[in-house]
This record gives sequence, C-alpha cells and structure tokens, in this order.
Amino acid sequence: MRRRSILGMMAAAAVTLFAVQPVFAAEAVFSAYSNVIVAGQSDSGGAPGTSAPGAGSLGPAGPGTSVSGPAGAPGSNNQIVPGADVPVFVQSPGNESPSGSFAAVSGNAEMAPAGDEGTVLSPVITAGSNDAEEGARQQAEAQGAEEAAMQQAEAQGAEEAAMQQAQTGGRYIDPNKPMVALTFDDGPQPSVGNRIMDCLAQYGGKATFFMVGDRVASHQAEVQRMVAEGHEVANHTMNHKYLQKLGAAEIQAQVVKGNDAIEAACGVRPKLLRLPGGNHNAAVRANTHMPMIQWNIDTLDWKTKNADKTVAAVLDHVKDGDIVLMHELYKQSGDAALRIIPELHNRGFQMVTVSEMAAAKGVTLEAGKLYSSFH
Ligand SMILES: [Zn+2]
Repeated sequence: MRRRSILGMMAAAAVTLFAVQPVFAAEAVFSAYSNVIVAGQSDSGGAPGTSAPGAGSLGPAGPGTSVSGPAGAPGSNNQIVPGADVPVFVQSPGNESPSGSFAAVSGNAEMAPAGDEGTVLSPVITAGSNDAEEGARQQAEAQGAEEAAMQQAEAQGAEEAAMQQAQTGGRYIDPNKPMVALTFDDGPQPSVGNRIMDCLAQYGGKATFFMVGDRVASHQAEVQRMVAEGHEVANHTMNHKYLQKLGAAEIQAQVVKGNDAIEAACGVRPKLLRLPGGNHNAAVRANTHMPMIQWNIDTLDWKTKNADKTVAAVLDHVKDGDIVLMHELYKQSGDAALRIIPELHNRGFQMVTVSEMAAAKGVTLEAGKLYSSFH
C-alpha cells in the first residue's frame, strides 16, 4: 500500500504537470510491442531450417536498416536475394564458404550454419500498436469523461514510469527518446571491457555483457565492476558450444553452468542468454529456459578486426530499438566502442541494457523465445 500511495502522489504530480498537455511522455510506454515473432534457424545438420515469421509479422522498419556488416568492405561479396521481404544479413561460415560471402535473405530463409556470431538470423519483430488504447481514450473524451480519462491515463503513466524506474535501479529511461542496446560477447576480457566501461561511464551508458562461463572465474573483478556500474551480466553458455549440436541435457548444462559461474563471481544470476553463433533449433529453444537475445546490427567486428568498419556498421544503421552485436575479446572492438559511444550520445541515443530496453518498450521477455530488436 505504501508503494501505491507514493505512486498516487506521483500520479497527482503528473496530472498537475500535464494538465494542459494531453499528450504526455509516458504514453509511449503503453505501446504494445508484445508480439515478438521469432524466425527459426536451421541447425547445421543440413535439413532446411524451419522458420516461423508469424502471422502479420512486419519486417524491421526501414528496408535495409537491419542489414549490417562491413558495408563496402573491400573483398566482401555482398548480394541481395531478389524478393527478400525482410533483409537479413547472413554470413556463410568460413569453413564452408571460404569467400565469406554475404547475402541478404528473407526472414524465413534457411540460415547457414554458424561461424561465430557473424551468422545472423534475424528474427522478425512484430510491433504492436496502441490504437486500441488511443481509441478508448478518444471514446472516453467523446462521452464527456475527458478529464477522468486523462487523470486515469496519467496515473497509469506515472505508475508505469515508477515501476520501470524500480526495475532499472533508479535509472529513468525516457521511452520517447531513442535507445540502443550495445552488447559485447565472449568476455570477460578486462583489457577491453574496462575501457568500454570507462567510456560508458562518461556518457551514462549501460551495456550488456554476454559472458562465457569458463572465463568468468579468472576475471571476477571485471564482472563485479559490471554489476557495480549497472551493466547487465548475461550468459553466453559455459563453454561457448554450439548448442544446436547438443542434446537436451547438454544444452541445459551449458546454460545452467554459465549462470552458476556468473552468479558465483558477482552475485547476480543472469536473466538473459545469447546463443553461441546465434544458432538454435527446436531442442535449443525448448531447453535453455531463458529468453534468448539475438541482434539486428552485426558489426562483424570479430571478422574484420577493423575499428573503422565496426564504427560504420553501427553508426550507418543505428536506430531506436536496435541490438548491436560486438565482441569483448578484441582490442579493435574496444577502439570502435570508444568512438561509437560518444557519437550515439551526441545523436541523443540512450545506451541501455537489453533488459532496460525491453522494459522501456513494454516487452516482457519470455523463456524459450528469441528477440533480435525492440522496434
Ligand atoms: Zn560468442
């Protein structure tokens, strides 16, 4: 009840603040981006991947914006598959395609087996709408209950904001401003991760670190710093094994051991999983028992090891709701991050963790589902 009364005070304040302004900031919180549809991906067994774009699914806003990679990279072999309705950047694995060619394919195309995270499947995100809410509000106004409806909506908005603030440790994420989730895989790697955190601290940014469990014990101080500074510690399996090649028990063990290792190091049990290579099949999806976070901007930093290309891969494409994939292992990725972070700040982006972004976008992350962006 105490929380309720505090929220009531906040609501009253919000009503006062917004009394002459019917359009209020918190409204965007209500946008229901609830229909996150996940495209399947084939395993490396050679069987065509099944995919489930889902009814009514929409491609990423803005054709081509989800396509990333070393744009114009010398020697790269980019091609577009005609008729692709959802541009997706796919990297053929080095061991099967020495040329390392790239192709944009539709969201339900079969995916190549993985090299590393360079293989992207890009699940399709379906954005909901707040039409119903808006309609209800207008109806209430038409019935002469404008004042009551606005007060109710304002109260809900204040409560939502307060809950969100509580979930993010007191940090307020403005849902009306653009945000991006920078994610760094394969660490911990203090020589890079600490530089990234130094830079993020300058700009109030937070990132998500998907760490390999068997590396954590050797770098506990860095992992503890992540927690202390509000970054999200997340699981990238215990041994970075490609889970689609494993049986159910092994899949579960890779996930649980990874969570155990991170929790032992820093006291926080991860809530999110990133699949090595992004690879999954039905067995993987059924046995991780965690939300699986993919990405929609792939910097290919692990492949190019070129800061300029990594910077361009982000800054040439980034938009609100994106999840950016980078790797903590490489000096060049750290160099790139130190250029990307200030520029994102200059452009008005909030640099948030994946969980912060989901909360700000009104998405409840569910175990067994995959998410590649929050558009
Ligand atoms: Zn990885």
